[in-house]
Amino acid sequence: MLGTEVVAADWHDLEGKWHVQLKRKDGTTFEDTCNVLINGSGVLTKWKWPAIDGLHDFKGVLAHSAYWPQDLDWTDKRVAVIGTGSSSIQMVPKLAATATSLTVFMRNQTYIAPQFGANVTNKEADPAAMDPAAAGKHHFTEKEKQRFRDDPEYHLEYRKKVEGSVVGGWDMFNRGTDLNVQVREFMQNQMRERLGDRDDLKEKIIPTWSPGCRRLTPGEGYLEALIKENVTCNFDGIDNVNATGLVTGKGEQVEVDILVCATGFNVQYLPHFRIVGLGGQVMQDQTTPNIYASIAAPGFPNYFVINGPRGNWGQGCALPSHETQMEYILQCCRKMQEDQIKSMHPKEKITTQLNAYEDAWHEKVCRHAQIISLPSPIISMVLTRR
Ligand SMILES: Cc1cc2nc3c(=O)[nH]c(=O)nc-3n(C[C@H](O)[C@H](O)[C@H](O)COP(=O)(O)OP(=O)(O)OC[C@H]3O[C@@H](n4cnc5c(N)ncnc54)[C@H](O)[C@@H]3O)c2cc1C
Repeated sequence: MLGTEVVAADWHDLEGKWHVQLKRKDGTTFEDTCNVLINGSGVLTKWKWPAIDGLHDFKGVLAHSAYWPQDLDWTDKRVAVIGTGSSSIQMVPKLAATATSLTVFMRNQTYIAPQFGANVTNKEADPAAMDPAAAGKHHFTEKEKQRFRDDPEYHLEYRKKVEGSVVGGWDMFNRGTDLNVQVREFMQNQMRERLGDRDDLKEKIIPTWSPGCRRLTPGEGYLEALIKENVTCNFDGIDNVNATGLVTGKGEQVEVDILVCATGFNVQYLPHFRIVGLGGQVMQDQTTPNIYASIAAPGFPNYFVINGPRGNWGQGCALPSHETQMEYILQCCRKMQEDQIKSMHPKEKITTQLNAYEDAWHEKVCRHAQIISLPSPIISMVLTRR
């Protein structure tokens, strides 16, 4: 149902149905019902301005990485970027290329990783195919595409190689293992090399903690941009913003024409809309959500979520984990259909146990990593038959 927002959902236990309140673009509302409610509303859909005094007093161009003026031209302009996360890392090289000056306000350190998946070749399909490139950067020739069409097995093998090269480095996150130590040293050395003679930056931005504690980002051209003459890295913090620029934590004024906030989203693992489950309990009232394997919640029958709290402990692309979650949800739906089950929701005790296990596992920071396979819905769910 396009152009329609879910504003609330209430579970009616006698009926075994969700009553969902919906709002059209013109503001009119209506109600619909469903047996199963799958929430795929995402966690990065609500961008936010940073809470900095005076931010909206700025008279130049105020932009956010998720709210970007389409015709913005920063050529020959003085630009500031707030943030060092994935968005900033991708923007900085582009901004630095033509801005008169670029000041990057930095608070956190990040590993700049090697390019993911940059070792897979497809020369067998076409000798003229591009040399290996980072995943997502390969331009396929017509001959390569034809080989994929004609030879599904070859296509599958190729996809597995790309996927394997992106996610195969999981073991590097097992703290204290040989691979973890090697990868940490390798990335630190590579960053040192790319930062050239800028010892000041090496000291401030190369992490000492274990890789994986913050999202790894390849950051093509990022470190090279930071050491350009027109770029300044500022570690003093921001006290406030005024009409013409920013005042640092040391009280210095940095005058800019464009102020870019690469400060992210209101990362919200609780749903953006109100959800009322068994006995009138409201999901948004939970201070610590006890959620089963990130996809279902005790007390909220026939409710499933993609990438809920505790989801996505992974490396590389998030989508394979979403697919796994969706497959599990579909298994539950099939079970309900075939066995005339009215409703199911996870058992509280099993959910608590699973979460305790995950916490203990994180405590060791993946030292003895295991693949957690989920028990079948029959063991872990409270089932109500029709
Ligand atoms: C800048 C940026 C870069 C990223 N890069 C990567 C990357 O490289 N790799 C990666 O794996 N992930 C990346 N992500 C994460 C990315 O968000 C997820 O991988 C993926 O998009 C999540 O898919 P999703 O379907 O769960 O949510 P989304 O893609 O966010 O889709 C949610 C949908 O639900 C709709 N919606 C929300 N609330 C309601 C409501 N109340 N009623 C009706 N509809 C609603 C939204 O309009 C949207 O259409 C990136 C995210 C951002 C912001």
